[in-house]
Amino acid sequence: MIESYEKAGKIVSKVRNDASKLINDGLAIIDLVEFVENEIIKEGGGIAFPCNVSVNEITAHYTSPPNDENIITSGDLVKLDLGAEVNGYIADSAITIIAKGGNDLSDDETNKNESLIEASDAALNVAISTVKAGVEVKDIGAEVEKTITDLGFSPIRNLAGHSLEQWNLHSGLSIPNVKDNRGEKLEEGDVLAIEPFVTDGVGYVVDIPTVNIFKFLKNRSFRLQYTKKVLNHIKRNYPYLPFSFRWLTEEFNSNRLNNSIRELSDSMAIYPYHTLREKSGAWVAQKEHTVIVEKEGCYITTV
Ligand code: MN
Ligand code: MN
Repeated sequence: MIESYEKAGKIVSKVRNDASKLINDGLAIIDLVEFVENEIIKEGGGIAFPCNVSVNEITAHYTSPPNDENIITSGDLVKLDLGAEVNGYIADSAITIIAKGGNDLSDDETNKNESLIEASDAALNVAISTVKAGVEVKDIGAEVEKTITDLGFSPIRNLAGHSLEQWNLHSGLSIPNVKDNRGEKLEEGDVLAIEPFVTDGVGYVVDIPTVNIFKFLKNRSFRLQYTKKVLNHIKRNYPYLPFSFRWLTEEFNSNRLNNSIRELSDSMAIYPYHTLREKSGAWVAQKEHTVIVEKEGCYITTV
């Protein structure tokens, strides 16, 4: 089990580092997403969830739809969030990069974006140094919040880290980015994805209508043959982990798929992960590592 977590972590770390070098002016988001997903497979892992590339005020849960025409431009604040699994044991990690090439932003704006990244870095480091068996999750949140507010920014209050289990990306525990009242304690062997988000806006995210990521929830019967076929495909290929609309279009026609996916979401056979945007439109930086809780600290699998 530990070996699988370690292998998944090494894959994520390598692919994250290779992919981050590609983040330049003019890069198509879909090319970045497909690079990451293909590299995870090449390195011997499974894709734990569709590669997320969330730009500027888009905070999380964006992956390319088929034929995505969105392009990264110079100065963009690009959050790359990726996950691999080995035997179902998951590594989840994210990094924020300022897209290079050209000079579209003022120096002040660029400096601020660098400071957002540094604050997400500092908050993650503090969180990780707090982790050990017996610590309450709210104490991690308090440290993250203090680190970020001391640097003059705000954490995103309604996004949190999470525990991981085999084939389960979000198992029971939440790791908050603010001080809250949760009394849960960490135990030796818990696996956690810790992910502070930092902004100079109001510090909340809201759903936007765009949905490109889904997760199977429960079996349902449908009258439409096509919808049955799509659900069977989902159950067979993605019974536990999130999947993207884009992956399904390798098997199904986009237009007909749209109708089926709507039917499946409406009846709660699948869960739609809406793309999240910072409520005030401010830009956001994120950093994430996966750690295994030990008696006197933790082991970072994705470093
Ligand atoms: Mn992540
Ligand atoms: Mn995560």
